[in-house]
Amino acid sequence: MSLPLPDSLWAATANPAPTQSALRGDIKTDVAIVGAGFTGLRAALVLAQQGVDAVVVDAGQVGWGASGRNGGQVNPIAHESPDNTRHKWAQQFGKQQAAAYTERFTQMYLNSADELFELVRTYNIQCDAEQNGWIRAAHGPAAIPAFEQLMQGWNAVGAGLEPLDQSMLQQMGGTRSYQRGWLAKRGGSVQPMSYARGLASAALAAGATIYADTPINRLQQHGKHWQLTSAAGTISAEKVLLCTNGYSDDLFPGLRTSIVPVISIQSATQVLSEQQIAEILPGRQTFADSRRVIFYWRKTAENRLVFGSAGIAAEVATQADRQRILSGLRTVYPQFPELRPEYIWGGRIAVTADHLPHLHQPAPGLYAGLGYNGRGVAMATMMGRLLAELALGKAVDEMPLPVTEIKKYPFHRFHRTGIRLLVPFMELRDRREARLNRPKA
Ligand SMILES: Cc1cc2nc3c(=O)[nH]c(=O)nc-3n(C[C@H](O)[C@H](O)[C@H](O)COP(=O)(O)OP(=O)(O)OC[C@H]3O[C@@H](n4cnc5c(N)ncnc54)[C@H](O)[C@@H]3O)c2cc1C
Repeated sequence: MSLPLPDSLWAATANPAPTQSALRGDIKTDVAIVGAGFTGLRAALVLAQQGVDAVVVDAGQVGWGASGRNGGQVNPIAHESPDNTRHKWAQQFGKQQAAAYTERFTQMYLNSADELFELVRTYNIQCDAEQNGWIRAAHGPAAIPAFEQLMQGWNAVGAGLEPLDQSMLQQMGGTRSYQRGWLAKRGGSVQPMSYARGLASAALAAGATIYADTPINRLQQHGKHWQLTSAAGTISAEKVLLCTNGYSDDLFPGLRTSIVPVISIQSATQVLSEQQIAEILPGRQTFADSRRVIFYWRKTAENRLVFGSAGIAAEVATQADRQRILSGLRTVYPQFPELRPEYIWGGRIAVTADHLPHLHQPAPGLYAGLGYNGRGVAMATMMGRLLAELALGKAVDEMPLPVTEIKKYPFHRFHRTGIRLLVPFMELRDRREARLNRPKA
């Protein structure tokens, strides 16, 4: 039976999906890819273009996971500064190797949005792609030092982030709630489900095969081959790419517990009025703030506001999630009290303990890439290419991030309770810090 898509704006407005059927019977391929999100689809596209036989399978349909549910913000700056990243890697790999990885990783991150938009142009993917920039803002005075440190860290490696003051933020965002921000000019947005479907069509046209409604429930190594088993068939493959991110299960031991699947909630308002269109993000950038329980938003092609925040319990938005979204809209745009969610849905973000994406090769011919910490629109697109390059034989030490052992996220079994307790506490801290920030009327 098919897994239903969430009741999202993206599912309601996306370009039609390519025809997808479930796997029946036994097949052979060069590379089997589990997960038909941005990671798996990009990998399939790169492989198929090189003449490699690639088969993608997903428990749902193309874009069923986070790739069809996200905010569509293409954000080319990581949570960590390049210095922090180098420091973290130096402890594991030594200073010299850490410096080499950090240099490649930061350049890949900085170029990630350009690479995504170039991909969209090359394959003529119809996904409302717009590269108008990404605004990020500090949510209160207490957040400004860390915010500026991150900005300086990235500018030191050529990010070209432009500082924004309160009046610029008001002019560009239509909100008076922030005093300090940056503009990352290379950022932008896509309609994520259309982007996923467009990647799938490009991969199919290049010769890849995609099976939907095919949960893989067993992965076994037989000599030099891997066997993937679903309820109605098997795939024998020389290589396997696990591209399951926040939806990772126990298919390969340890992968599920190497990340924490954090719920993120998205909403879409009614189509904005002329006045709202003129005031809110007139330059059509995307916007995100530095709250622990983040607020982030953007306009869509038809001028709805897609507004997101964290969730607590379930991928189906609860009343508390709706309340958090409403409170976010009121905080950012108090002048428009009529804004409310017409669509609301959720999905899973994969958070890693070091806030960096993870690349693994846990056995010969088996690779996994995951853990984008909420920045996966651009990064999953990059990771798909990296996984394909590994499958094509590129050396692991030439990668822009280290190929590491799969390690358990500390205290993983307590994550649900932890999130439930932490979110209200973090919201409280965000609110207190932001209150200090509110301009006098
Ligand atoms: C609500 C929300 C908002 C977000 N907003 C943004 C944003 O604005 N900007 C940004 O950069 N990032 C954002 N993200 C993160 C981004 O969407 C993800 O990082 C990215 O889509 C991950 O892509 P993926 O292909 O690795 O994984 P996914 O798209 O999650 O795909 C994984 C797939 O694996 C399949 N799968 C798992 N196990 C099996 C199995 N055993 N057999 C078969 N199939 C299996 C699942 O069905 C799923 O479809 C957001 C995420 C969410 C949930």
